[in-house]
Amino acid sequence: MHRFLSEPRVAHYTRAFGSTTVKAAVDDVLRETRAAASRGAEPPPFADLVARVSGRLASLEDDGLVPVLNATGVLLHTNLGRAPLAAEALAAAAAIAGGYSNLEFDLEAGTRGSRYARVTPLVVAATGAADALVVNNCAAAVLLALDTFARGREVVVARGDLIEIGGGFRLPDVLARSGATLVEVGTANKVRLGDFERALGPNTALILRTHASNFRIEGFTAAVAPADLAALGRRAGVAVLEDLGSGAIADLADFGLPHERTVGEAVADGIDLVAFSGDKLLGGPQAGIVAGSKSAIARMRANPLLRALRVDKATLAALAATLALSIEPGGLRKIPLYALLGATPDELERRARALAAGLGDAVRACPSDAYAGGGTAPLAKLASWAVVVRPPDGATKLARRLRRARPRTIGRIEGDEVLLDLRCVPPDRDAELREVLSAALSLG
Ligand SMILES: *Cc1c(COP(=O)(O)O)cnc(C)c1O
Repeated sequence: MHRFLSEPRVAHYTRAFGSTTVKAAVDDVLRETRAAASRGAEPPPFADLVARVSGRLASLEDDGLVPVLNATGVLLHTNLGRAPLAAEALAAAAAIAGGYSNLEFDLEAGTRGSRYARVTPLVVAATGAADALVVNNCAAAVLLALDTFARGREVVVARGDLIEIGGGFRLPDVLARSGATLVEVGTANKVRLGDFERALGPNTALILRTHASNFRIEGFTAAVAPADLAALGRRAGVAVLEDLGSGAIADLADFGLPHERTVGEAVADGIDLVAFSGDKLLGGPQAGIVAGSKSAIARMRANPLLRALRVDKATLAALAATLALSIEPGGLRKIPLYALLGATPDELERRARALAAGLGDAVRACPSDAYAGGGTAPLAKLASWAVVVRPPDGATKLARRLRRARPRTIGRIEGDEVLLDLRCVPPDRDAELREVLSAALSLG
């Protein structure tokens, strides 16, 4: 064992996987070798055994969670981990997660404190809400709100709002799971305030409004202004929950996208509880944030289910740092999502042309459409530029070679071409992208 562990090709993996995993790989190889020897096989030389151990560990490394270069043009790609974190958020998470902290400790009193004490004022400052709560993701936030308010009671929802988002999250199913009874109002395309008014009764617990995150209803439509819905709820003494999902904190119109309803607007409309994700348009870690009124948040905070949905210290630290950037003057562009959104088409064109130059006839720079993704402004195209490759051996093969390259590079296949969209690629990764592409082309 000791001889194996002092071999550089094996020792190298101790850092990545820890010694237990490395020793287990050595044990496996030795056991196999002894078993083979007992069947009369010639024992292989030591160098071969080292190669077997390091090969086994290398394949473990391939199976692990690895960084990828996102050249899909989809900024908030759920399959690729949604929002990249700001340097400030990473530093905060490292400082807190790498040691002990005052996570649930009041430094003044020397007694137990609240896990949410430091992040709440930041959500309040970023949204204008009176109070806030943070859980694991937006789906958990909606579930907690329904469980708190609507178990065994009725939730009024417009038929056009009964959505399914990615990952099989269907609102009617979540409602059923939370023990609430769904009361549908209006039609698929039209709903009026009177529809909601007539549906309210003694057993109504909540009015629920959702963000049409991944579709649009267009044409012959009618909807109720959120402020009118909030006013109706107040008159009737029924809380209004809005599942906002993407949770814009800034005006996306400043970044060439259509305006997207912001959390601040929902709060200003008088919505009692606004639920949104931390890793969509806030550009932070995975989290579910509820911004709302003091009384509604207090009820959610008292729900024992909160304990099962609570967030980790690293997430809280990263979230707090991201929220701080979102409200600090000039801070927004330090959030990678907004730095990427802020790149001008001219810059992207220049980079695409420089990348494509000298890579042969199969490669050219072209305008491209990028997307926000993550259930945000689904139809809105963001002007972008891409390096477009028409490989002689087909787009599927080149895309596979790019996925297998280091860094693993994910493009977009359109017909018989592979597009490497630069909208999600930070400029300081261009040299790597060019190297990966040039190597993948020469292998073809
Ligand atoms: C994305 C989204 C959710 C789920 O958010 P997660 O943080 O992924 O759980 C819920 N509702 C809407 C409207 C969404 O867009």
